[in-house]
Amino acid sequence: MTGIEYDLTINEAYKAPWLTVKAALPLVDVRITRPRNEEVIMWGQRDSDRIPLITQNGSQPIYNFDIGKTLRAIMCDNAFVSRRPLYARLPFDIRRIVPKKFRRNIKKIQSFFHFSAKNQNFPQWPIEPSLMALHSVFLKTGVLNKLQYPDNKRYGVCMTHDIDSIDSYKSIPLVSTILRKKNIPATWFLLSSDYTLDRHYLRDLIASGDELASHGDVHDNKLAFLPEKEMVARLRLIAGVFDELTGTQVGLRSPSLYMTRMLRKNISKKFLYDSSCVDTGILSPDPGRGGCGYLFPYSIEGVVHMPITLPLDSSLVFQGIRGDALFETWMKKLAFIKAVGGVAVLCAHPEPHLLMQKDVLAQYSRFVDTVAADHEAYCCRMKDLVSLYNQQRVQKKIDIFNDSAK
Ligand SMILES: [Zn+2]
Repeated sequence: MTGIEYDLTINEAYKAPWLTVKAALPLVDVRITRPRNEEVIMWGQRDSDRIPLITQNGSQPIYNFDIGKTLRAIMCDNAFVSRRPLYARLPFDIRRIVPKKFRRNIKKIQSFFHFSAKNQNFPQWPIEPSLMALHSVFLKTGVLNKLQYPDNKRYGVCMTHDIDSIDSYKSIPLVSTILRKKNIPATWFLLSSDYTLDRHYLRDLIASGDELASHGDVHDNKLAFLPEKEMVARLRLIAGVFDELTGTQVGLRSPSLYMTRMLRKNISKKFLYDSSCVDTGILSPDPGRGGCGYLFPYSIEGVVHMPITLPLDSSLVFQGIRGDALFETWMKKLAFIKAVGGVAVLCAHPEPHLLMQKDVLAQYSRFVDTVAADHEAYCCRMKDLVSLYNQQRVQKKIDIFNDSAK
């Protein structure tokens, strides 16, 4: 993790009402200063040192740390899983060799070690409030504006699904029925070279209001680690399949959320957006703690990223969080997202051992019922949300990475 972690204390006049727990952020190039006549907006505490991090003397806030480098470290360098897993070096797809049950146990052991790591506070799971607390300081000081939803809705909801195998693909009609009943659109991240894509059926999904997006060609987790020439050739093939299917550019979610600098560089012109990070989470199959801490879309170097912001079904099931407890975990996070006015992005896997487990699917349906009944929720496809962000980015200051660091 780049940056040194500071506990944050925010001046009551600038503090968001939802901030009730400890906030801690890794900061880059902190300048140790003492306040003079200016108003202190945010303090940082590390050991016995308490220093002013943001002050105001006149209209513009003054940062005693490098805001640009800090945001890059949090939202780009540390946000993505870019360490190559051992099995991504294997010449075959491990999913086809090791039985699912056994892989599940490996993941349970990984989750145990993940949650045993106590040497850093950022990001906390399942709710990480620190960057959103800084975001609300930006709103209060006029550095940024809030993303506005249509019809004065208060927060966004995107129901996304990773179709990792033929089993998941076959479950699309059943999951789709649950959403359709409540008039909620879905985003389906499909593999283009694993199972056979039924073009008639998929075009019907689009016609009924859903979005098709790409989850790569095959789920071998190698895309992000290929030599550039090979990567570009594979991306061109992937984009071509979706172009033919949808007639437009689509979004991308890299298999197992692996995202490297090289992949980011090569997707900006071929894909509409990227959704290969979480705001906070256990990153399966990689057990490292990670996430960008942010609940809105953001853009860095020409790529619009929209993080997954609700705990993944896989993260919950692998930790043994099932039934009512699973629903309550989603609800607690949803309440936080609603208070912030952010975007709730659910990522479900219609695999037989994940979403399609009877109790998990029942909680998923309860979640769908809850957001459908909430008149303050703007339920949309992910591409609608990205276009909302792109439209507002032109006139308003809503782009945290590019607008706050000026
Ligand atoms: Zn996947």
